[in-house]
Amino acid sequence: MSILNLALKGVSLQRNKMDDILEDIFKSKNTLEEIRLAAEGNKQLAIQLRKSIEEVQLELRMVRWNTQSHSKALGNNAYFYEGMSEYYLSELLRYNYAFRTEILYKHLELKKCLDENEMPRDNINRYLEKSNRYNIAHQRIRRIKKRITSTKSKEILFYIDGSVRDQGTENIASIFGIMIYDDDNRLIDKYFSTLEQWITAIKAETMAFFTTLLMIPPGKKCTIYTDCQNIINNYNLLTSNIIVTTTRDILKFSNNNAIWFNIKDLLEDQMLDIQLVKVDAHSHDILHNQVDKEIKDRYGLEYNLANTLVKYNAEQYRFPLVWNGHLVEMNIRWFIRLITRVEGLEKFLNLNRNKRYRSLDVEWNIVFLYLNKQEKEEKTFSSSKYIEKQKWMKVQRLIEEIPTIEQLKKSSYDIYRDFRCVVCNKKKEDFIHVWTCRYNRKKMKFIIEKYVERLRLFLLEKGIKDVTTKELFDLGVFGNRFTNDKLNFVDLIKGIFPSQLYKFILGKLGNNQKNSAVDMRINLLQYVFEETKIQIWGPRCELLNRLEKEYGITKQNKKKPDSMFLEEKREEITNRPICFNRRYEFLEGVRDGVLLVFFYYFTLTLVTVGKVLRV
Ligand SMILES: [Zn+2]
Repeated sequence: MSILNLALKGVSLQRNKMDDILEDIFKSKNTLEEIRLAAEGNKQLAIQLRKSIEEVQLELRMVRWNTQSHSKALGNNAYFYEGMSEYYLSELLRYNYAFRTEILYKHLELKKCLDENEMPRDNINRYLEKSNRYNIAHQRIRRIKKRITSTKSKEILFYIDGSVRDQGTENIASIFGIMIYDDDNRLIDKYFSTLEQWITAIKAETMAFFTTLLMIPPGKKCTIYTDCQNIINNYNLLTSNIIVTTTRDILKFSNNNAIWFNIKDLLEDQMLDIQLVKVDAHSHDILHNQVDKEIKDRYGLEYNLANTLVKYNAEQYRFPLVWNGHLVEMNIRWFIRLITRVEGLEKFLNLNRNKRYRSLDVEWNIVFLYLNKQEKEEKTFSSSKYIEKQKWMKVQRLIEEIPTIEQLKKSSYDIYRDFRCVVCNKKKEDFIHVWTCRYNRKKMKFIIEKYVERLRLFLLEKGIKDVTTKELFDLGVFGNRFTNDKLNFVDLIKGIFPSQLYKFILGKLGNNQKNSAVDMRINLLQYVFEETKIQIWGPRCELLNRLEKEYGITKQNKKKPDSMFLEEKREEITNRPICFNRRYEFLEGVRDGVLLVFFYYFTLTLVTVGKVLRV
């Protein structure tokens, strides 16, 4: 390769060597003009020349610099890479300089900021929702923390408690409270707040504990007094040196798992110096009783209290489970089970035949407990033919599908087309008629009287003497005529238990006798079931059997598919009105459960619903 100076503003070009002859011709020319002329006459020279610079051209195409230009940072003799802005380059140089001289550290003290572990974490901002300016919980907690920080007391004592009022009703309310003392038992400050959603006593206690952790300044020695064993247990679990609690473990907590994730995060802070002390629930600890009293005093005035709004922001539980906008705060598996069951109950209640129960008050948990009542010889995974049959009959009654004539018409219209009630020979025999047929009225009256007497004796056995038969009849649930707008004895035959009666019995027995009250009710339902079977349904079936024999109807006849009267059958069966009144939708039960009533009671109701629908 030779370097040819083309005298072009001090730029030289590199090219490959050509043939010797052509090289000689090339060298004899001094200017570009002369070379151009020579190449026009000599084609070989032109081709070879073009070829000789190809390689350099290629290289130049890859690395091309802009022409000389001016840069503020670099002065006049600056060459820039094509496509790259001048500012970008000068910025790059400036950053390079700044980092090399650690100018950033020196001037901005950024070194401190970059080291995350040394940065103090603001737990109050991290775990509490600021909400609107009318909610002062956030500010209150911050102020209390400041106050605790500035006290000279070596140790701080926290007394925490929480409670619920009117559980199971729409007026449910919950308040938790924290009272803070110094080591001379002088009150430093106190904090009271209300709860929303998933209200339970344990949640109130847990919230009190969580809020306390937010108030504790780093390094301060603190003792927390609580009467809640659940908090102590979970605290010991989370701070254990031996057991590691995983996300899965906390999700398996029966409730409040989202808050416990936050608490776990807070407890992992090594700066906290805390100790938990269990106070006996009914002890004479004056300070603990004081919190309890102050909480009680605030009921009825709870609208004055701020609502402590938690931000679920724990490292370990970044994406909490939410259902229709409500955080799921219970064991997730239980929750899914609950949803499925409420769905089942809703479907069941939406059936046309249950339209009355959508507006009447029924104690469903008693109904399902009665359906699933386990006999003594029965175990969870085994059953006998007899018990199975009993259950089947109970369910048949509940869904009004005992084999009445009207029911039989559905499968064997040919045979039963002209059949009427076998007792009175007059009316169509549907489910309600079986029990209200005028020829059965006397028997029914007798059964009802015996039922009421039995209930009175039950109560007497429990020491309740002042119940009169009249008082029981006045409840208005033992009518022997069927009406749509009231519960009556036919409902009891189906196994439906009226709320009025439920409340009456519970009122007489008192809240502490809940279990025996439940037993009593199931017993009563069982009694109605057996008595009506013996006195009314049994004899009726005998009559029908006799009649069928007379007509020569055999089992084979019944199994035959219908052939005649198909139109007539369809009309009779499909001409029943559909009722859309007060249908349940969108799992209202679960929603109510989240917002108002807690599930323990509700779950009881629903545990059995699934089973009913599976039958
Ligand atoms: Zn009749």
